Amino acid sequence: MRIINEVMLDYCDVLLKPKRSTMESRKDVDLTRTFSFYHSPKKWTGIPIMTANMASCGTFSTARVLSKHKIITTFHKYYTISEYKEFFSSFSNPDYVSYTLGIRDRDIEQLKVMIDNKLMDNFSFVCIDVPNGYLEKFLETIRLVRELLPEHIIIAGNVVSNEMTEEIILNGADIVKVGIGPGSACTTRKMTGVGYPQLSAVIECSDAAHGISNPKGHCGLIIADGGQVHPSCIAKAYCGGADFNMCGSLFSGFEESGGETVEMNGKLFKEYYGSSSNKAMLVNYGQKDSHRASEGRYTLIPHKGSMEYFLSDLFGSLRSTGTYIGARKLKEFAKRATFIRVNRQLNESNAKYEINENN
Ligand code: 5GP
Repeated sequence: MRIINEVMLDYCDVLLKPKRSTMESRKDVDLTRTFSFYHSPKKWTGIPIMTANMASCGTFSTARVLSKHKIITTFHKYYTISEYKEFFSSFSNPDYVSYTLGIRDRDIEQLKVMIDNKLMDNFSFVCIDVPNGYLEKFLETIRLVRELLPEHIIIAGNVVSNEMTEEIILNGADIVKVGIGPGSACTTRKMTGVGYPQLSAVIECSDAAHGISNPKGHCGLIIADGGQVHPSCIAKAYCGGADFNMCGSLFSGFEESGGETVEMNGKLFKEYYGSSSNKAMLVNYGQKDSHRASEGRYTLIPHKGSMEYFLSDLFGSLRSTGTYIGARKLKEFAKRATFIRVNRQLNESNAKYEINENN
């Protein structure tokens, strides 16, 4: 047994110190980034935010909205080949959609059918997603997917430590997905006791990924996945070194999100449930395996209206963070950031994020 005594932080444990700046307006802050990758020869330009690959936000309807803003939709694992064929007959924007698969044999079989049907040409990204990225089978799957798709940008996770971040990149992934337990619909910490404070995980894993580069100087990248309850959490993740942010609940509850709409006492709600919740197991597999406990929760989010309002709030907040810390570009957030440790109670980010009432 060993105890790590170092202080580990979540987003709500810190604030950002304002810095002197020569900027005149929030408009001066550029939120787009262009990335090259460790393995994939592609280049990508956009706003480095993506939806979680969950039923409530990794959907076709979300992709139609977010791709216009150069944000990526990571589809959930449960679309069929024929649903993909129909969707891609009227959608073509590969840089802003990601296919998702797990590490079971049937995931690889479906990927092969997708490749044979040329459907993977519609995606720049492919995401290999498991709750626990510390399994040997996960690394084997990354190597196999890299062989099958040598040019795609491969995302793989989830992990929370430096040594596995390096291992994942060296085994064929371009981007490592970081986070175990921070998700708003996740009960892993409660059920298993396993987890890692998310901001510290982002700082540790980004340092590891950015420390590995190929002969052209292109380094590994990371995604901060889950636990962003406000736009400020997204800004803090960039300041901690995240290249991308992946969010579930922030992109759920909208007209364009997935999940059933439920009416209660005259008010509208939308479903939001964890991918490992009992509800997800029932919807996707028709039953809950007897050897698995649910590690996700089912919630109802008050209906938030159209996603477009949220996006302008989000971009405005990120630009404002840039203005306060003197960063003209998203790329400069980490360089300009000084975190201040605060008492959680003093930090606004403990309150639940609500879209402006006047929206
Ligand atoms: P959120 O943005 O809602 O805080 O977190 C979204 C992330 O939570 C997802 O991208 C995924 O990593 C994680 N997640 C989604 N469903 C579950 C679940 O049922 N159990 C666990 N442990 N994590 C989940």
